[in-house]
Amino acid sequence: MEILHKDVKSIKGIGEAKAKLMAKLGIYLLEDLLYFYPRGYKDKSIITDIDKLQNEETYTIRAIVEGRLKESRSRNGMLFTKCRVKDSTGCASLVWFNNRYIKNSLVSDLEYFFHGKVKRVGKEIVLESPEFEQASAGGSLNLNRIVPYYSLTEGLSQKELRKAVRSVIEAIYEKSADVFPEEFRKLYSLAEINFSFNNIHFPESIYNLKLAERRFKFEELFMLQSGLIHIKRMNHESKKGIRFLNSDKVYDFMKSLPFSLTNAQQRVIGEIFEDMDNDNIMNRLVQGDVGSGKTIVAFLALYKCVLSGYQGIMMAPTEILAEQHYLSFCQLMGHTGLRAGMLKGSMTARQKQKVYEQIKSGELDVVIGTHALIQEGVEFCRLGLAITDEQHRFGVRQRAMLSAKGENPDMLVMTATPIPRTLSLILYGDLDISVIDEMPPGRKKVDTYYIDSSKKDRMFNFIKKELDAGRQAYIVCPLVEESEKLELSSAVEYRASLQEKYFKDYKVGLLHGKMKASEKNEVMESFRVNEAKIMVATTVIEVGVNIPNATIMVIENAERFGLAQLHQLRGRVGRGSSQSYCILVSDADNEVARERLSYMTKTENGFDIAEKDLVLRGGGEILGKRQHGLPELKIADIVQDAELLKLSRKAVEYLYDNNKLEEPEYSRMKKILDQRFSRVLEEITLN
Ligand code: ADP
Ligand code: MG
Repeated sequence: MEILHKDVKSIKGIGEAKAKLMAKLGIYLLEDLLYFYPRGYKDKSIITDIDKLQNEETYTIRAIVEGRLKESRSRNGMLFTKCRVKDSTGCASLVWFNNRYIKNSLVSDLEYFFHGKVKRVGKEIVLESPEFEQASAGGSLNLNRIVPYYSLTEGLSQKELRKAVRSVIEAIYEKSADVFPEEFRKLYSLAEINFSFNNIHFPESIYNLKLAERRFKFEELFMLQSGLIHIKRMNHESKKGIRFLNSDKVYDFMKSLPFSLTNAQQRVIGEIFEDMDNDNIMNRLVQGDVGSGKTIVAFLALYKCVLSGYQGIMMAPTEILAEQHYLSFCQLMGHTGLRAGMLKGSMTARQKQKVYEQIKSGELDVVIGTHALIQEGVEFCRLGLAITDEQHRFGVRQRAMLSAKGENPDMLVMTATPIPRTLSLILYGDLDISVIDEMPPGRKKVDTYYIDSSKKDRMFNFIKKELDAGRQAYIVCPLVEESEKLELSSAVEYRASLQEKYFKDYKVGLLHGKMKASEKNEVMESFRVNEAKIMVATTVIEVGVNIPNATIMVIENAERFGLAQLHQLRGRVGRGSSQSYCILVSDADNEVARERLSYMTKTENGFDIAEKDLVLRGGGEILGKRQHGLPELKIADIVQDAELLKLSRKAVEYLYDNNKLEEPEYSRMKKILDQRFSRVLEEITLN
């Protein structure tokens, strides 16, 4: 058995009890211990002479214990343990409080390292409660070095963990085989594995520590990405997809659209059609800011699919959105002769049954709907293309269920959440990515203001003026965190107070998450036909709603939203030809909140906002939620280590493109990657 796969109990001094505690930290095997990276370090390597010690500073000294340790008690019963130490430059006193163990742990005339803070008492130099460790020839673990600090669990101390790690490092000394062959390490300037284990835990210098850190960060990102890229290549290579027919008719049709497509739209359509033309299975993500015109791109792909004799579906996360897509489809694609239908959860069993039959018989070419599309009863006759809108609401598993409705149908995923490129490499590492990075012409900038609540009266007057000019407004409710129930009642109250106090003569509607789909539809409809002038809403309007006559978006308690979310909300206005406004109301007085909100007033570019959000919130938090089914990153950070992320991706591609894994030097890497892939695949199928 490989030594690294031995149980931690094989370490001297680790018994059943300690092993249990280690298991809590996810440490079972010696290998786990080596990959249990410190959460931080303290440089205690600098030894200071006693005569150089300054008051109130923290130092490490190397000194000999002189004479016996003395214990005494204060009047209130506190135990003091004192002793004197000396080095070649002078003497100091050490003192501990209420620590019964000190007396038997220090031996006079022996030399120790002591680390603690200096408190001068008159002329006397005193170190209070210093840590200590005997100065021995073997090199120290806890002092006189750059010391590692680990995340602990109760009952396990830093010292114990350090000792355990050290003994593993000694046991494998210079014997670990490196997953990365020398050639590969040279290519990407990576430190060797034995060196890296030593220096990530017990760094010989800060420089060596950086080298070790870089190697493990790279390794982590490399492993993650090779899994994703492997899946991607498998999709491309092993399974045969559908070869759709030529696109001439689609291109003709494009000319008849009421607008001409932007360059970005054309480029992305080109990328999609190229995927559809060959017999690979398309797995493509289309990213585009709100309002960039993703919907028509999806429709054109559906058209091409149907022209080739297949059925297409488009799945949206909410009924409101599905309906909206269906309406736009009828409007924009009506005269193509495509037969489109709708499927959603709120339909009666009979209605659904009818659509099921139409889908199965092939009577319908295109079906637009919600999750209802992936229910069991739905059987297609020839599903060729499945599109999901707003992917972030669908999991990998749902994507797989959708795909299973046909025989290797092409998949297209649309998302309006701009994701910084580095992040999308990870989150969507198994997809090809297209970006619509251009807005249709004539879009006016949404003027964004950041106000505090003292200016709300003025704001309401402004809204009235817009309403009188025939426009409409959204107002996103103040958020109540405590409970959903409270949130609901506060939304209801808030609407009522607006209606009675400020907007007596206008109809104010209310949309919230607890409403039945049919109620939501009613409210939306009354807003769509411009009967309701104001729509008070919780964040359910976040996704995709398109009502061009709405020109004002007010967001209360704006500080409680993420930047990306604010951007999404703001994207609900500015969809028509009139000037639109977004008003962020917040009384937050902390610096970061203010910075975030004023950033919103300065930029409209969703990708910039996403970058900023990522920097402000940190990559850890975003990936940390684990909602994406990806393994947690232990040492790398996708924001701070963006460069390494790119480099590791290049490395993976280099390996595949040059068939490197087939070379004998790479056999170890191949073995380890194969093991990981089967695990990743298992996880995805189990999900
Ligand atoms: P999103 O990318 O947010 O889904 P939509 O597809 O809903 O955006 O498009 C927003 C609006 O812009 C729609 O009314 C759509 O008809 C319109 N639109 C799309 N492409 C263009 C274009 N090239 N020129 C003008 N208007 C366009
Ligand atoms: Mg959309």
